[in-house]
Amino acid sequence: MLQRMQVARDSLANQPVTVLKGVGPKNADRLARLGINTVQDMLFHLPLRYQDRTRVLPVGSLRPGDQAVVDVEVEHADVRFGRRRSLLVQVSDGTGMLVLRFFHFSQAQRQALTRGVRLRCFGEVRNGPQHYELVHPEYQRIQGDQPLAVEDSLTPIYPTTEGMHQLSWRDLTDKALALLHAGAGLQELLPEPVLRRLGLPPLPQAIALLHRPPPDVSPQLLSQQGHPAQRRLAFEELLAHQLSLRLLRARQRIHPAPRLAGGDGDGLASRLLRGLSFRLTAAQQRVGEEIQRDLAEGHPMLRLVQGDVGCGKTVVAALAAARLIEAGWQVALMAPTELLAEQHRTNFLQWFEPLGVRVGWLSGRHKGKRRESVLRELAEGTLPLVIGTHALFQEEVRFARLGLAIIDEQHRFGVHQRLAMRAKGAEVTPHQLIMTATPIPRTLAMTAYADLDLSVIDELPPGRTPVKTVVISDQRRDEVVRRVGENCAQGRQAYWVCTLIEESEALQCQAAEESAAALAEALPELRVGLVHGRLKAAGKEAVMQAFKSGEIDLLVATTVIEVGVDVPNASLMIIENAERLGLAQLHQLRGRVGRGSRASHCVLMYRSPLGQLASERLGIMRESNDGFVIAQKDLELRGPGEVLGTRQTGEVQFRIADLVRDQALVPQVQALAEELLPDEGLVQALIQRWLGERVNYSVV
Ligand code: ADP
Ligand code: MG
Repeated sequence: MLQRMQVARDSLANQPVTVLKGVGPKNADRLARLGINTVQDMLFHLPLRYQDRTRVLPVGSLRPGDQAVVDVEVEHADVRFGRRRSLLVQVSDGTGMLVLRFFHFSQAQRQALTRGVRLRCFGEVRNGPQHYELVHPEYQRIQGDQPLAVEDSLTPIYPTTEGMHQLSWRDLTDKALALLHAGAGLQELLPEPVLRRLGLPPLPQAIALLHRPPPDVSPQLLSQQGHPAQRRLAFEELLAHQLSLRLLRARQRIHPAPRLAGGDGDGLASRLLRGLSFRLTAAQQRVGEEIQRDLAEGHPMLRLVQGDVGCGKTVVAALAAARLIEAGWQVALMAPTELLAEQHRTNFLQWFEPLGVRVGWLSGRHKGKRRESVLRELAEGTLPLVIGTHALFQEEVRFARLGLAIIDEQHRFGVHQRLAMRAKGAEVTPHQLIMTATPIPRTLAMTAYADLDLSVIDELPPGRTPVKTVVISDQRRDEVVRRVGENCAQGRQAYWVCTLIEESEALQCQAAEESAAALAEALPELRVGLVHGRLKAAGKEAVMQAFKSGEIDLLVATTVIEVGVDVPNASLMIIENAERLGLAQLHQLRGRVGRGSRASHCVLMYRSPLGQLASERLGIMRESNDGFVIAQKDLELRGPGEVLGTRQTGEVQFRIADLVRDQALVPQVQALAEELLPDEGLVQALIQRWLGERVNYSVV
């Protein structure tokens, strides 16, 4: 057991930033906008990057992209009247020539830069027509004989806000560092043995180094965030983040929840299971048991079930629902789109109606009497099961005995919406089961969803053939169209997914309409259907239904079909502008085919020319059908935002840590968080330091 730490009262965490000379009301305001309220906050405001002004470099050694200090002598200066009037000053230091280029200059400036004048310059080296150039360098005249001094540490460049200059930042951080060096407390919150084990420096040392790195620290190492001082802070930040989520979880787990005795003999769940036309896979069974154990604990379950598209998450959720309903509780199932909610409704009707359990339906488009009666029945407790969209989160939706909230495709909902569901339980806190088909690499899941338990369905039902994927330029569109014709001539169906460069939904729908018309013309023998986000729910459903029953051969769609459709006879999917979509989304789309036993194909069509990164990404889609492999690559290529979807990015935004680079730290962070969690003072101090006002516990 680690020794509990006293969190010092007089530490810099409690000193307002206004104790620093130079911070008046105006600056205090500006700083507050960046979340800097205390001296500690100031110390944690770390440089974005560094310039090396600690040594003078020979001109002959410069390379484009270098930021360098040089001492040079003017050879001659010229004003050029080209496309842009510019002052070109040719200089040299005996090792090479360099041109200083100015687009804005005064008469006085021009007159001062004459042959023989010696200058100290700093700037970024660029390629030029004859020589390397410094564009608008900082410069000062070297007078007399004594050499100019160089900086004794790398020059920090701080993230800033309007009205705050780099010089002010340097001045203010100098003052904050002086307080730190004078021994004022910046509380060390990581246990000493942990630091030793990981080979990480103490906090004050790390902070001081990052504000004023000595000349022997490599700017490259710093820019890759690879210095031990940075790793030390990344570790602490990940820990703070982990703790805040663990705390959230701990606070939710205190509440009582429906307690279900294990096993239900010949209950609803067993009967549902017997009515299925298939047997559960081993993975489905295992996850089912994990859920059953949670339900027996008497505290709210908080479980995330991950599993690739088509692995069969729905039936696992249905079994959990059956257990709660059997025990007299209500269950709500929420899906992010109308289409997906409807598909769940179809499945649940098919599974539950024969068992005498009524299935309610609530969506945003659903108004009037039917809506009123669903709301009343939920409030009275006579309706055991309801399926719907975001509409279920609304204030007026009340439950008499909500025991389980199932949330499908969690990445499209925020944590706060999830928490809103929790508040709908009347006497108890409902269990929560969250499902996602976006495979999230383990370390990322451990960080982004540290408030949840994880289950993984890592097996597909038997009899599925993997989808073959090809990557083709849109210059071969005619060929692709022919192939669609051949596919459908054999009695199979196909999807044609239109994605658009413009983000507007209206334009997307228009593009889909145009594509559908063009395809219908090119393939007159096919029955072509169209579905997009602007169709009314009923219209959409009618088209989907027609596709499902085989009355439509080719379905042209926008990405609304990403989730929700299950048509085993569809064996070909064309995705236009595939390079525009994230890998996770492509993988989801592709999951719509390959649901039958026949070989399926996916054609990723791109607009040429294809860039290096895009080509690499589409290559991954061609090579792998494994959602976890794809997600891991996506994480490496595009970062966590892409993998988690936009909504979640705000929740995993780090100041220093980087989930890709720092993956290896995560298991240690998690273990330590577990150990530290009981130490409330320490936990609060860490969270306050790193997350500050970003954490909103009012929801707990
Ligand atoms: P997802 O995990 O993507 O939500 P679904 O729950 O929609 O997948 O299941 C995809 C299809 O697989 C459905 O038609 C479902 O009935 C079927 N299915 C689920 N489990 C099995 C199983 N064990 N064996 C055969 N088919 C299954
Ligand atoms: Mg699903």
